[in-house]
Order: sequence, then C-alpha cells, then structure tokens
Amino acid sequence: MRIAGLRSFSLVDYPGRPSAVVFTSGCNFRCPWCHNWKIAYGEESLDDNMENVKMALREKIRKRVNAICVTGGEPTIHSDLPKFVEFLKSLGYLVKVDTNGSNPNMVKDMLEIANYFAVDIKSRPEKYPLLTGIDINMWEKVEKTVEILREYKVSYELRMTYVPGLSDEKDVDFLSEFSENGENVFLTFAKSTPNFQIDRDIPYIQHLKVDKIKVR
Ligand code: SF4
Repeated sequence: MRIAGLRSFSLVDYPGRPSAVVFTSGCNFRCPWCHNWKIAYGEESLDDNMENVKMALREKIRKRVNAICVTGGEPTIHSDLPKFVEFLKSLGYLVKVDTNGSNPNMVKDMLEIANYFAVDIKSRPEKYPLLTGIDINMWEKVEKTVEILREYKVSYELRMTYVPGLSDEKDVDFLSEFSENGENVFLTFAKSTPNFQIDRDIPYIQHLKVDKIKVR
C-alpha cells in the first residue's frame, strides 16, 4: 500500500471524535473537481513511508487520538488495505474507511474489521462517467457496496459532493430517493481547484430536498 500522507489530528474526519487521517495514494476515478487530486493521481510526494507511518501510529498518535480515518485517493485499490485496517485495530483504534464504493468485495472483507464506512454517491446512475471522469459506469459497484453495508448493518454514511456545472437537482433528488430512512446522508459543495474552476455565475441549486439529507 502506498501512503501519501498522515495528518496527526483532525476534528472533521471521524464522526464525533478527534482522529488522525491516513491518506493512501492513487485512485481509480478521475473526478474532474477532485480536491485531493495530487493524492488521487499519485503525485503527492510526502516523505511518509509505511514504516514511518506505522511507527507514528504505534507511538505519537496513539497518545492523542483513538480513531483513524483511512482516506485517499481511494483506499480500496490497495489489496493490503484489510491487513492495514487490522493493524490499526490491533493498536486499539476505531477505524473509518472512506471509499468511492467501487470495490464492494473489499468492503465486504472489512465488515468485521472497520467501525465505520463513508461511501461517495457521485451522481444519479446515468451521470456516473461525467462525475467520475472515467468511461466505465461504476454505479452498479457502488450500489452493491451500499447494499452490503445495509445488509450487514455496519455504521456508515452516504455523501454526495454537489459540483456546480456538473451536478444538478436531479442528482440530489436521486440521493434523497436512494437513501433509506435513518441513514446518515450528507451533501457537501465542491470548491474550485487548479484543475476545475467553479463558475460563480452558475446557481448552486434552486430547490433542495433536505428531508433525509444533511448539508455540511
Ligand atoms: S473518487 Fe475521490 S479521490 Fe478519487 S478522483 Fe474522485 S474525488 Fe478524487
């Protein structure tokens, strides 16, 4: 597994707890608006390597937090992710895994290990290639991932990033229809990056169905 970086303290990456954040390198999607694009494209050149990260997790970080968010990039492209999550658990951490939902089999393998999953819902199904920047429509994989989480009754959240110019109200309507009562569902808003400038003249959204969705 390639580690792109380690943030030793965060108040926003694990629900209700301070946590550290491990960033894995690389992603199988190319979302045009990706705010972690250097990490997703494998260009992040932090000096952290696995042994340094493990040492920090065993010692320094364990004194400050008891939860870890593993994010990317896309963590599930790394075949040794479940082993790494097991390692974190062996140190006594609670572990959250952020995923774009494209690897349901690996999520299944981690159901007994990880404590919390956060799954991106990029858009309504037919727009997946536009929002993910790849030709293959990965919606069925994402749907399968959510089905697995629902079936197993593990803790999880669904989250959509609204991207002015790419997203529209039908995507938010889809998120609302797709989500089930009682699920944690969040909507965030994309910011400009060096690769993707958000046109300020495009209205963000006119009508928001927020019955099941929290905006953050
Ligand atoms: S799935 Fe996430 S990390 Fe990967 S390109 Fe899209 S926004 Fe970036």
